[in-house]
Amino acid sequence: MFRLEDIKGLDSLKKEISTLVGNGQFPHTSLFIGPEGNEKLHLAYTTARLLLCENGLDGALCGQCSACKKSGHFTHPDILFSFPFIKKGDSDSQSNDFLMDWKALFMSNPYMTVFDWASQQSEENKIPNITAFECSQIIRKLNMRPYEARHKIMLIWMPEYLGKESNRLLKILEEPPEDTYIILVAEDTEKILNTILSRCQLFHVDPMQTEEIEAVLMEFFKKSPEDARSASFMARGNMAEALSLFNEGNLEKNEEFVKWLRLCYNFNHLEIIKWIEHFATYSKEVRKYILKFGIHFVSEMLHIKYNYGSGKVSLPAGMIDTATRLCPLLSFESMEELVRILDREIYLTERNCNAKMQLLYTSGKIHRLFNGKRFVA
Ligand SMILES: [Zn+2]
Repeated sequence: MFRLEDIKGLDSLKKEISTLVGNGQFPHTSLFIGPEGNEKLHLAYTTARLLLCENGLDGALCGQCSACKKSGHFTHPDILFSFPFIKKGDSDSQSNDFLMDWKALFMSNPYMTVFDWASQQSEENKIPNITAFECSQIIRKLNMRPYEARHKIMLIWMPEYLGKESNRLLKILEEPPEDTYIILVAEDTEKILNTILSRCQLFHVDPMQTEEIEAVLMEFFKKSPEDARSASFMARGNMAEALSLFNEGNLEKNEEFVKWLRLCYNFNHLEIIKWIEHFATYSKEVRKYILKFGIHFVSEMLHIKYNYGSGKVSLPAGMIDTATRLCPLLSFESMEELVRILDREIYLTERNCNAKMQLLYTSGKIHRLFNGKRFVA
């Protein structure tokens, strides 16, 4: 990992970056921007490695020089990091205090989210920050000479969490010290001051493709081909979402939704109550997962109904047949309504509504969709 060839897709962007680095024209202030769970942080760190490689010809890592070896082990003293963190106590903490943990998480998951990082730091749902003190440390470190390389690189992850402290960095972003590169990695430009954005050259990093997620799950996270395939289908281009599907054995629960749909169709009261009793024994996260899979399943039914044969259906092999057989039983409007019903069920589950009563009511609603009658509340 952490070489350009390890980054999936993004061919033209990778070419652009290696050309800029190769020609010594990489901007001194840049922002890698893209949605959650994609290659942007991975690519930003790889770019930092490229900038320090001592032999880098044509913008490729030589892999042999001392800089390449150190950056490969995340120990290069001239690649500095700043990121949001949860302050411990009243003391002036800085991201360096948490650097070992942050690097360990990054190495184990280059697609990590702020949520992954914050929940590792604290179990209390606290929101991390890039504090005023951290900003002063960024400026102090950037004003120091590189330790051993020709350049020094500061990678700032998730500048969205700078909030009102952003202004403190304007000057250094406007005129970074000589031989310095500042690389910002962010997800949401709306949460970044325009004055910061206007000082950076932007590199847009696209979401990942389904096949790319599938490949990373197998190659890097060592998941089985079957699980990797199922998870990549449901991830909708978000690697973090794909990884979350492996929590609590979620992928094995896909059948639960299909079973419920069948029960709703036949509407055997006792069987439905039995299913609901069983469903209620799952944790909130698993229940949400099953409902989310439901939305995916119905979207794929729409795909089968209207584009049959024209594209790949994103369902496990055994379920394509079931989905195909259910298709004629639901109109387009009913399928749309079913997605809305499931969406609302997820919303209610998140708010801890009485799951059993609610689900019985919802099962009746779904039954009526099969009869072609849309439920009017
Ligand atoms: Zn090198």
